[in-house]
Amino acid sequence: MTHTTRTNTGSAPTKSPRRVATRSLAHLDVLISGASVAGPALALWLARYGARVTVLEKAPALREGGFAVDFRGDVHRTVLRRMGIWDEVHRRQTHMGRQTVVEADDTERVALPAFFMSGDVEIFRGDLSKILYERTADRVEYVFGDSVATLTEDSEGVDVTFDRGAPRRFDLVVGADGLHSHTRRLVFGDESRYLRFLGYYVAGFGIPNHLGLDRTARLYSEPGRTVVISNYDGDPDRAGVGLIFRSDRLDHDRHDIAQQKKILADRFADMGWKHAPKALEGLESADDLYFDAIAQIHVDRLSKGRVVLLGDAGYGATMGGIGTGTALVSAYVLAGELAAAGGDHRAGFAAYEAEIRDYAKGCQKTADNAGPFLAPPTEKKIRSRDRAYRVLGSRLLAGLFKKLTEKAASDLVLKDYAPVDRQP
Ligand SMILES: Cc1cc2nc3c(=O)[nH]c(=O)nc-3n(C[C@H](O)[C@H](O)[C@H](O)COP(=O)(O)OP(=O)(O)OC[C@H]3O[C@@H](n4cnc5c(N)ncnc54)[C@H](O)[C@@H]3O)c2cc1C
Repeated sequence: MTHTTRTNTGSAPTKSPRRVATRSLAHLDVLISGASVAGPALALWLARYGARVTVLEKAPALREGGFAVDFRGDVHRTVLRRMGIWDEVHRRQTHMGRQTVVEADDTERVALPAFFMSGDVEIFRGDLSKILYERTADRVEYVFGDSVATLTEDSEGVDVTFDRGAPRRFDLVVGADGLHSHTRRLVFGDESRYLRFLGYYVAGFGIPNHLGLDRTARLYSEPGRTVVISNYDGDPDRAGVGLIFRSDRLDHDRHDIAQQKKILADRFADMGWKHAPKALEGLESADDLYFDAIAQIHVDRLSKGRVVLLGDAGYGATMGGIGTGTALVSAYVLAGELAAAGGDHRAGFAAYEAEIRDYAKGCQKTADNAGPFLAPPTEKKIRSRDRAYRVLGSRLLAGLFKKLTEKAASDLVLKDYAPVDRQP
């Protein structure tokens, strides 16, 4: 019997994947908390298997913004195709070109080819979220501006109360509410048990395209901090600023945007690059600030009773951890395993965990050094990073580098979960 096997090399599957029979989930009412990437992706699959799905989002509307996210390797490609969003993701891709590392006076130090940062295809997180929402909105109930207050489970289901809406009962609850998951806190315990801080923070926001960049980016580093300004072809008048800095754990309020802006303004006030002050000027009026620790989530198990964690809530990695690709792959597997188990959550959740756990850990591992790589702590380390860029960006080593970055993302042989109406 062939089954899903992790490959040792991360390259092509060693066996052709098994077609797995599935059964209808029409008897299931599922609540998904979080409408970014993981939540709507799971909703798409569960709705295809016939489940009634409600996606709950704390924000008043679908959230825009965020950096570009990329997909790389066979596994990501296969899932995008099976979801039916391959063409649309390509239509809305960033078309990012070269990224140039610059000196303080903006002269070029080293230029990196597009594939280095952008994978096989790159799209803004907000655009991806929109695609997933558009593909599901007619079959899935979306509730914005609310959050789960309590979850009470018995042998037949879960009673859910909300901050605003009337109480409801569901068969299953999925926490797809990100790195700082509220569902995880309610069911698995405090975040401090699961969040591993990696000593860096990352921020992103939009500004006018002062530099006249055309699908290119410029990056400047000083010890422990980096500014990157980029433009994509979506809007020639806008640019995105990325800030990465090394820091002890900050005792800040995650919901206080003004405080976050002050932290960033202070940290980058005397940055030597000639374009930094103008970029930071835009911070004041930015209405799309993303600010978070570079951190990872490590939980002991992904489900408890009728509640299961998906995406960043279960195995988030912030930057460099291929979190968006992992979220899509995991949503495909979770829905497929539930359908293969005919909706039996014990069997379905256990199979999901067995399939995805090591894969997600491997992807997280690629992000272990994201902070020190993007904002090296000393001048000497900045120089050696740039030497590495020069070598890895050369044509000769391009293929090798591509393979390396795809390794973790491809280290899973996907099962082929048959659609309910086309069983093997
Ligand atoms: C606005 C935004 C910008 C981002 N920008 C970046 C970036 O620049 N770089 C990067 O590395 N990663 C970024 N991320 C994270 C990235 O999207 C994820 O790593 C990845 O796509 C996996 O997605 P996810 O759906 O598991 O989690 P997330 O994308 O984090 O989504 C979680 C969702 O849950 C919602 N939510 C939170 N609490 C509750 C609650 N109590 N009830 C209901 N819903 C809740 C959030 O509003 C969000 O929509 C960003 C996420 C968001 C939401």
